[in-house]
Amino acid sequence: MGNQPLIVLSEDSQRTSGKDAQSMNITAGQAVSESVRTTLGPKGMDKMLVDSTGDVVVTNDGVTILKEMDIEHPAANMIVEVAETQENEVGDGTTSAVVVSGELLSQAEELLDQDIHATTLAQGYRQAAEEAKNILEDIAIDVDEDDTDILTQIASTAMTGKGAENARELLAELVVDAVRSVADDDDIDTDNIKVEKVVGGSIENSELVEGVIVDKERVHENMPYFVEDADVAVLDDALEVKEAEIDTEVNVTDPDQLQQFLDQEEEQLQEMVDQLVDVGADVVFAEDGIDDMAQHYLAQEGILAVRRVKSSDAEKLARATGARSVANLDDIEADDLGFAGSVAQKDVGGDQRIFVEDVDEAKSVSLILRGGTEHVVDEVERAIEDSLGVVRVTLEDGKVLPGGGAPETELALKLRQFADSVGGREQLAVEAFADALEINPRTLAENAGLDPIDSLVDLRSQHDGGNTAAGLDAYSGDIIDMESEGVVEPLRVKTQAIESATEAAVMILRIDDVIAAGDLSGGQVDPDDGGDGGAGGPGGAPGGMGGGMGGMGGMGGMGGAM
Ligand code: ADP
Ligand code: MG
Repeated sequence: MGNQPLIVLSEDSQRTSGKDAQSMNITAGQAVSESVRTTLGPKGMDKMLVDSTGDVVVTNDGVTILKEMDIEHPAANMIVEVAETQENEVGDGTTSAVVVSGELLSQAEELLDQDIHATTLAQGYRQAAEEAKNILEDIAIDVDEDDTDILTQIASTAMTGKGAENARELLAELVVDAVRSVADDDDIDTDNIKVEKVVGGSIENSELVEGVIVDKERVHENMPYFVEDADVAVLDDALEVKEAEIDTEVNVTDPDQLQQFLDQEEEQLQEMVDQLVDVGADVVFAEDGIDDMAQHYLAQEGILAVRRVKSSDAEKLARATGARSVANLDDIEADDLGFAGSVAQKDVGGDQRIFVEDVDEAKSVSLILRGGTEHVVDEVERAIEDSLGVVRVTLEDGKVLPGGGAPETELALKLRQFADSVGGREQLAVEAFADALEINPRTLAENAGLDPIDSLVDLRSQHDGGNTAAGLDAYSGDIIDMESEGVVEPLRVKTQAIESATEAAVMILRIDDVIAAGDLSGGQVDPDDGGDGGAGGPGGAPGGMGGGMGGMGGMGGMGGAM
């Protein structure tokens, strides 16, 4: 065998270094970006994603597509993180951010081929990103928080091309109202807005309810449908006789004993209900179950009770009514109850729900979202989430930018001028960065079936002439003033996208060595390791099973070897 090699890495690990590592990572990043590119903009197409259990999602939303895709490659995942950061920070602009980071990688590849060092590139990109943010701040338009028109336009732009087309105006108004009602000075928590999806009826029937809606019915038919001026108890407990922790056996020797035993249970349940009556509860929301007998007693007392309330709903109920969630019914006090002017069971699209309205802390609202089918409502919900995000961010920052590729074109123009002042090899990186940003207008044009070169040329000349708000109207193909057309987006959508896209691209570019404990090719594990093979593949559930069985087989093999 000659010289014994020095083994540092385990047999299964894989190592790729130098240019190979760089180009492998760049290719992976580009692939992610390519996968969402066709969805960008008002004329972007949707994707249908089918998971291993056969569940279908139809969406246009960048981050949703990437999450559903179950991407495994580590560099590709860094690009997915760009979308996730964008989603968490602003809610909108996920596709744009991913497309830009993919293009930053493509542009970098060309420079790497010309022997520009990755560190130089990274520096140039960072400088360009910094300058880009300054330029955007300069051209940003101030928005007054009372300017309902522009807020509605922002809400509406974020929903463009996302299956809510015909009701965009109404939904945008609801979104603005919703965000405003949960705003508490500068602190806006859109988690206090609950989107309640109802399949049936049309999107135009959507409405905003100040308060909380619980997707449940009252537990007993003799309970009231409606309670006015209700004292509300929120229980993180059950109204049931607690089962003994240890297995117990009750030996009954004569029928009387059995009756006694049942009586005792009933008595306990009656006591529980009495506790609620004593503190003055008119409405009870329990996160756990409510025994049939207890339901009967509650109904007798005229109490409206709901069981198995989701804990996220219980939290909202507590916040909205000012109730304190009680973990143990024995500890309940009058102080723990909250208040709602009205608690009612109402019919929404043939479905019964509990509406808790006229609450003291109106800082909790529900948006009832209606739509023809489940998939439609789901996609409209995602559009609404984006829209809620942009309105929140605008209220927080008070600054917006025109859309339709206007800021990207302006940035490209200004960054090319800035590049001259940078000099050296970094200059090339800054220029590459400027070119990369134009991927946004170019893609908007492509997706709208327009000639991207023509559109870019027109856009550039308008911006050259000082029209910073000139953007591409994806419907007509004309270059128009986006601000006066009301296509506007928060400044932060763009600055955040540039920031995370740059960071991810730079991080990927600086890697020249990939050492992996397993295989990176995604799924194709070598055949004798019958293990994970099927997991990533389209085989779905059967693949998963194969994986499990393979794993066991592998263990057997090991046993045999020992
Ligand atoms: P993202 O996930 O990045 O938000 P979208 O599919 O929502 O992706 O597309 C956003 C892009 O579409 C932005 O560049 C925005 O300016 C642009 N856009 C939105 N409305 C219009 C419009 N009416 N005309 C042209 N571009 C638009
Ligand atoms: Mg969007």
